[in-house]
Amino acid sequence: QSQDRVFNFAAGPATLPENVLKKAESELYNWRGSGMSVMEMSHRGKEFVSIIEKAESDLRSLLNISSDYHVLFLQGGATTQFAAIPLNLCKIDDSVDFIVTGSWGDKAFKEAQKYCKPNVIWSGKSEKYTKVPSFDSFEQNPNAKFLHICANETIQGVEFKNYPTPSNKDGILIADMSSNFCSKPVDVSKFGLIYAGAQKNVGPSGVTIVIIRKDLIGNAQDITPVMLDYKIHADNKSLYNTPPCYGIYMCGLVFEDLLNQGGLEQVEKNNIKKAELLYNAIDSSNGFYRCPVEKSVRSLMNVPFTLEKSELEADFIKEAAKEKMVQLKGHRSVGGMRASIYNAMPYAGVEKLVALMKDFQVNHRL
Ligand code: PLP
Repeated sequence: QSQDRVFNFAAGPATLPENVLKKAESELYNWRGSGMSVMEMSHRGKEFVSIIEKAESDLRSLLNISSDYHVLFLQGGATTQFAAIPLNLCKIDDSVDFIVTGSWGDKAFKEAQKYCKPNVIWSGKSEKYTKVPSFDSFEQNPNAKFLHICANETIQGVEFKNYPTPSNKDGILIADMSSNFCSKPVDVSKFGLIYAGAQKNVGPSGVTIVIIRKDLIGNAQDITPVMLDYKIHADNKSLYNTPPCYGIYMCGLVFEDLLNQGGLEQVEKNNIKKAELLYNAIDSSNGFYRCPVEKSVRSLMNVPFTLEKSELEADFIKEAAKEKMVQLKGHRSVGGMRASIYNAMPYAGVEKLVALMKDFQVNHRL
């Protein structure tokens, strides 16, 4: 990567592929001979319509999304989906099931309480959110409208490696994939709905992607704001109102780049290599560094770790910053460090971090 760039380990907004940023820069003033920036285009003009259609089509190729699903480009972040999902899929008295493996699943559950009757059927809270349950250790409510999971908990670094089968009568599994979206292949047909904020793996903040099975739209509660009604957005191809045009354009460039890399199988291989390098460094440090997450469910994307001598954490973060590695401070709710190593983090960035960890350990082990 270029000398003037840092290795940015932020959890989101997060680092984007340098070649994508350069391409956007080259098209900034005059998008492909249109004489306009994408920021200046009518969202109903043929130029922008071609941009959003290509973004959707490339995303469909990447995730192999069938025509049974709508792909929606929305606003309001994943947080808005915490409300939109129950508003669209439930009546106020319907029960739904949540497996809560971290802070985001908990937030989704709490928001759902306003619009339906959610139950937490398993929570990892008492074990500080370091686990994913085995699928025979909880009981689903057969009358639940859906089963909700957070596929990757960004703060705690806990990731589902496979998915529970929903036993509710409509077989609807819903996943928040904000922080591992497009990081590996996913069998979309197992889900009723997948949602993700773009700002970790696929673009800038301001775009939220919803992939929803077509038969699940059209039954929103009467109080549903028009902006949260999936049917309105699906009927209008995400152009009911002015969408986040520039963000959608950037997501499109990222999707194209992921396809050029060889698709999500290849992307996953790269992510596994990076994550292994970092987890191995932690695990082989004789306890100097620690990752509290159970090994089998450690996230490929967000790697939380602590120092045995926690008083050295601020020094570690300072030394990293001196070497142009930034945003390594852990989330305020868990402390320690967190390295987010999304798709766009180069292998060289993780190598550099691991080299610092080794040096730091040598210099600080008395
Ligand atoms: N869900 C997960 C897993 C997240 O990591 C985040 C992010 O920051 C959110 C939801 C909330 O996303 P947003 O800030 O886009 O509303």
